[in-house]
Amino acid sequence: MDLMVRNLRKSFGAVEVLRDIDFHIHAGEFVCFLGPSGCGKSTLLRCIAGLEEIDDGEIRLGGREIDHLPSAKRDISMVFQSYALYPHMTVAKNMSFGLRLNGMPRDEVDRRIAHAAQVLQIEPLLGRKPKALSGGQRQRVAIGRAIVREPSLFLLDEPLSNLDAALRVTMRAELAALHARLGTTMVYVTHDQVEAMTLSSRVVVLDKGSVSQFGPPMELFHRPANLFVAGFIGTPQ
Ligand code: ADP
Ligand code: MG
Repeated sequence: MDLMVRNLRKSFGAVEVLRDIDFHIHAGEFVCFLGPSGCGKSTLLRCIAGLEEIDDGEIRLGGREIDHLPSAKRDISMVFQSYALYPHMTVAKNMSFGLRLNGMPRDEVDRRIAHAAQVLQIEPLLGRKPKALSGGQRQRVAIGRAIVREPSLFLLDEPLSNLDAALRVTMRAELAALHARLGTTMVYVTHDQVEAMTLSSRVVVLDKGSVSQFGPPMELFHRPANLFVAGFIGTPQ
């Protein structure tokens, strides 16, 4: 579904962390939020997911205003940098937990887990606990837990930043394939220009809490709107 954010503002105490955030992401698009550490990327995702309250503005998913809804009612799945798996549960339990909690019938839960496990190639891991998994495997499980909810929107907050460089490249390709297969709208946060430029159809560049430029990678590269974008994308001036 399409995601529209209008005039979003967010402060922590006296510090304004996000201001005048405005963008429209089309249904099925893969968009990256790109910007340096501390510019507000995670806060913006958390506002969209309903993990932070916004001070002003509007968030619409598929035309429906969601900013007043609790997180669980927003039809959004978020994948965190830290994976946030439950250590005492098996992989299958980690993936099914939220669905069972919502009262989904057992056979529907099993069907979704089998599908996600097949897509992510983690079938042999379903009976293991997180501590018996590698970093890449944990990240796949974290993505699997998001997939089984079959949301209208995925939010991914620097999901590959804890992986080594080689695995990051592999997982990037897997994420692109996953997006092609599911067709779900994805918003992906990163501070890595290469990741943003290779993964997304359009990039939102954030600078100190506001949108500096929003466009396709080639446009940012060839026609940066300002010096910040030019410097960050690495275009020679
Ligand atoms: P990014 O993800 O781009 O690195 P964040 O969204 O995590 O940036 O943080 C943006 C700014 O908001 C930072 O200055 C950070 O210190 C501040 N911030 C984030 N969360 C909180 C919070 N819960 N309370 C106070 N300040 C916060
Ligand atoms: Mg962050």
